[in-house]
Amino acid sequence: MEFRAESECDHKPVWVGRVALAGCDSCQRIEWFSNAGPIDPAEAMAALFGSYDLVGTMDALGAPTPEVLVYRPPNGRKRRNLDAVPKHVWLRAGPHLWMSHDGEVLLLAPTQALLFENLTRGA
Ligand SMILES: [Zn+2]
Repeated sequence: MEFRAESECDHKPVWVGRVALAGCDSCQRIEWFSNAGPIDPAEAMAALFGSYDLVGTMDALGAPTPEVLVYRPPNGRKRRNLDAVPKHVWLRAGPHLWMSHDGEVLLLAPTQALLFENLTRGA
């Protein structure tokens, strides 16, 4: 059996504009940084994916929540922001938010009802 200590992880930040992130599938989380120091995960997510369009929800097997939100890049722009994050794994992006992607669409799984409502408002 392979044992992987946390210290063996290579959390190498990837910069996207003024925000950097290190997504790690061993730790199942995303660490956020910015050129101005610490950054709130919600603010960082907004910087990267705030312009994405909510296209619906779907039931998702294996996701942290039974229902997840599906987002698409606007007209294919900013799709490359997804490339900064490992594909096909669920990572904790913030205290109440998990994310995953397949290189085309962004999936968000808010574990808090209020956050779910905020994210789906106006959709
Ligand atoms: Zn790690």
